[in-house]
Amino acid sequence: MKQMELYIHIPFCMRKCRYCDFLSSVEDETTQNLYVRALLAEIAFYGGMYRDRAVTTVYIGGGTPSWLKESAIVSILNEVWRAFTILPDTEVTIECNPGTLTGYKFSVYRKIGINRISIGLQSADDDELMRLGRVHTFAQFLKTYELARQNGFSNINIDLMSGLPGQSLSDYKATLQKVIRLKPEHISAYSLMIEEGTPFYEQYRFDVVRQESGLKPQFLPSEDEVYQMTQLTVQLLAAAGYGQYEISNFALKGYACRHNIGYWRRKNYLGVGLGASSLIDNIRYSNLRDLHEYIEQTKHIRAGLWENERKEADGTVRIEELPAVSIHASAERIGRGAQMEEFMFLGLRMTDGISRTEFEQSFGKPIEAVYQEPLLRLAKEGLLVKHAGRIFLTERGREVSNYAMAQFLLS
Ligand code: SF4
Repeated sequence: MKQMELYIHIPFCMRKCRYCDFLSSVEDETTQNLYVRALLAEIAFYGGMYRDRAVTTVYIGGGTPSWLKESAIVSILNEVWRAFTILPDTEVTIECNPGTLTGYKFSVYRKIGINRISIGLQSADDDELMRLGRVHTFAQFLKTYELARQNGFSNINIDLMSGLPGQSLSDYKATLQKVIRLKPEHISAYSLMIEEGTPFYEQYRFDVVRQESGLKPQFLPSEDEVYQMTQLTVQLLAAAGYGQYEISNFALKGYACRHNIGYWRRKNYLGVGLGASSLIDNIRYSNLRDLHEYIEQTKHIRAGLWENERKEADGTVRIEELPAVSIHASAERIGRGAQMEEFMFLGLRMTDGISRTEFEQSFGKPIEAVYQEPLLRLAKEGLLVKHAGRIFLTERGREVSNYAMAQFLLS
């Protein structure tokens, strides 16, 4: 049986964080209920369409899925169990934010088959949390974490961010130490990105310009300080027994996130919900991004064809038809070159890198036939290593991963 991963998007939050550009908004209960109904229709539809595939991982992300009533999560997962063939040891994750959970919610999550909890903490410093516009304090996070443990969850991720406005290296160290003391099975640690269209962009864009011009920013940590924070993450987590299995992800042995690994390995995944994207047999789909249009369109969801214009080498324009669904906003076949690029970019994010055999099996030629020159150059620069049939970035390579990945662009 063919396999795929399943991602379910819940686009609601209690309040919008000041740095967030994810597809999420604050909506009343009536809208949330309409959305859940739409989601159920979409899941049921795909259950019929993908009868020949088994689901290997389920990830309920957002937004803040834990902000929904527990009964909504129960309906969604019941529909997933009913519609799809789910493998017995499937990893089922839900993203949660402190301040949106009770012990009862966790007990319901466990009963319906959720076996992994991902908690957005970001910082253990209440002033930093306030500046980020988070809805919770560190004490509330601790309560949430304790409730998850009390309800038997033995696979918990904590999300952290570094490079926050006003954050010093020792502030960040204190956050890391507090989190390590809790012994979660998994830690994701990203650096803050200032994204256009967010309140943070308005507040800090001059700082970003200063940073880019090599000047010391006023509020944000300097590039050098952010680099030190990243290094500190790797050092402290390694000393505490966490393996770095991806540039920003660390886990105790046996607890790497299977869903995310599938994504970095370019496995097929189906995304359901507002704006969710899917990768099925090298076609990338994106769902509608307007909440009310999505809710309306799922009432009449049906399979159809998506037409794209394609320019041939001789300049002639051809119409290419792709299988699609009426709630898609786009569908695009990923060409062979782009597949190779993704294979490299995503695979090299992982500490154990990529397999030469897998490359050859996927593309019908040895990796050197395509990437001889960048492989040699990066190896010479000490950024990449070839060992036992695998190719991976060195520690230094991971530190300058943007530069290293750019070497694998084909066009
Ligand atoms: S909780 Fe997450 S998704 Fe929601 S606004 Fe904050 S960062 Fe964005």
